[in-house]
Amino acid sequence: MDTPFTNRRVTLSERVEQYPKGTLFEDGKNVFCKTCNLTVDHTRKIAVDRHLLSQRHLKRKAENEGEVEATDSQRGSESAERRGSVVYDLTHAFVCANIPLEKVDNPALRAFLKKHVTNGGAIPTASQLRKEYLPKVVESHKNQLQAVIQSAVTDSNNHIVSQQNTPGPNSDCEEKEQ
Ligand SMILES: [Zn+2]
Repeated sequence: MDTPFTNRRVTLSERVEQYPKGTLFEDGKNVFCKTCNLTVDHTRKIAVDRHLLSQRHLKRKAENEGEVEATDSQRGSESAERRGSVVYDLTHAFVCANIPLEKVDNPALRAFLKKHVTNGGAIPTASQLRKEYLPKVVESHKNQLQAVIQSAVTDSNNHIVSQQNTPGPNSDCEEKEQ
């Protein structure tokens, strides 16, 4: 006979199931608080309740919830960054290889990019590449060119006498042997 007065042992899984999903878990030996990753005394419900209301648990719970939100929004911006970078790199590669940007609208090429390139389906049309990404590629080349000019040491007659070892303006366009 099971009355509130008998000391019937609650099984691990029974205790876990008494709480909302994700609150507790058991490994066959102990019941753990999922938030704190700490064992709780599953034999006494009051002990579990007390833990779930403890300052330590509530603080940890609040921290975890904050972290989850942060990683979610980070994940969003990370994938946007990756997408941006694949588009930028593609524009850069086309420019360096003298491939007209219009070629990106070629259905066969688009199908290839979508199938084989991560985020390849997110590559915009040629007109967008020209508007948004080409200026960035040009800007980056301009900066490299300026770095070369600045690193050039000139004599009093403004003749370049030596050049420090700075990559040339098109250095990242050149094919590198692996
Ligand atoms: Zn806890």
